[in-house]
Amino acid sequence: MKSKEILLLSVLLLILSSLSCTSGDDVESSELVQPSNWWEKLPRPVYATLEKVENSQWWFEVYRLPHNIYAIYEPYQFEEAICYLVEGEDRAVIIDTGTGIGDLKKLIDELTDLPYSVLNTHTHYDHVGDNHQFTEIAMLRDADGINRLIEGRTNESLMNYLRPALLRKGLPEEFDPDSWTIPSVEPTYLFDDGTLIDLGGRTLEVIHTPGHCTDEVCFLDKENKILFTGDMFFPGPLYAFGDDVNIDEYFQSVKKLEARIKEFDFLCSGHNDPWVKSEVIHRVREGFEDVFAGKGEFEEEQGVRRYYFNGFDILIRTDMIK
Ligand SMILES: [Zn+2]
Repeated sequence: MKSKEILLLSVLLLILSSLSCTSGDDVESSELVQPSNWWEKLPRPVYATLEKVENSQWWFEVYRLPHNIYAIYEPYQFEEAICYLVEGEDRAVIIDTGTGIGDLKKLIDELTDLPYSVLNTHTHYDHVGDNHQFTEIAMLRDADGINRLIEGRTNESLMNYLRPALLRKGLPEEFDPDSWTIPSVEPTYLFDDGTLIDLGGRTLEVIHTPGHCTDEVCFLDKENKILFTGDMFFPGPLYAFGDDVNIDEYFQSVKKLEARIKEFDFLCSGHNDPWVKSEVIHRVREGFEDVFAGKGEFEEEQGVRRYYFNGFDILIRTDMIK
C-alpha cells in the first residue's frame, strides 16, 4: 500500500474505534464523574475545624478526630481518599490504605506505637493501594472482593487516575507513575456481617452494606457512636454506576443503616470529608427513593446521570433506573 492509502486507512480505523460503544472507562472519564474543576471545592470547610497533625510526607494531610482517631487524607488527587487510624487500648486498626501513591506504612509508624492491622471497607483501588505494605489484612468473606484483592491492578489499568486534570500538585518524588500497580495481596483474616473486632476498650462491629460492590462494609465503633462508611456513604457523588454496583442492594443497605441510626452520631467516610453528622443517612434514603420515583434534579452524559441532593449526589447509570 502507498503511504497515502495507509494514512487513509489509519484515519478510518481511528474513526471506527471512536464509534465503539461506551465502556466503563469512558464513563469514568466523563465530566459528571471526574469534573475537571474538582479542586475548586478545596480546601473543604471541615478541615479548618480539625486539628492538623504534622507528618513527613506532603502527599498526606493528617487530622486528629475525637476518640483517638486519625483521618489520613489525600487532597492532591481527585478521589480525595481518606483512610483512618483507630487506636484502642491494646491495638490499632487502619481502615483502608488509600491509593498507594503515598508511603502509608511510614506514616502509620510515625503516628502510633501500637501493633496494628488493616481492615478493608472494600477492595477498590483507592482503598487498597497500600495493602501490600502490611502483613495483617482483614476483609469481608466475599469471593468477588477476595479475587479483586488477589488479582491486583496493572499499571495500564491505573494510568487514567493520574491524568494531569485529576492531580492538583503533581506527584511525590519517590513515586514512580510508570511502575505504579496495586500488587496482589492475600487477606490474612476474613470477617462476616456482625463480626466484632476488639481493640481493647473499643469494639468495631462489621456491618455488611453491599451495593457499591459486593464486599462493601461499614465498621461501627460501638462505644464512641461513630460509623466508618467507606464508599457506602461519603459527602460527594455516590458511585452507583459501575459494573460492580447492585442498586437494589445499595438501597437496602441505606435502609439497614437508617434502622440503626441511633447507634451512631458521626460518619467517617472514605472520601472528601472525614466527619459528617449521621442524619444525612435519612436524606440518602430519600434521595434513592426520589431517583427511583423519577424525581430530583440531574444532569446526564454518556449514559450516566448525576442527581444533586443536599450534602451528597448520586451517580447512576441511566439504564439502572426503573
Ligand atoms: Zn472509593
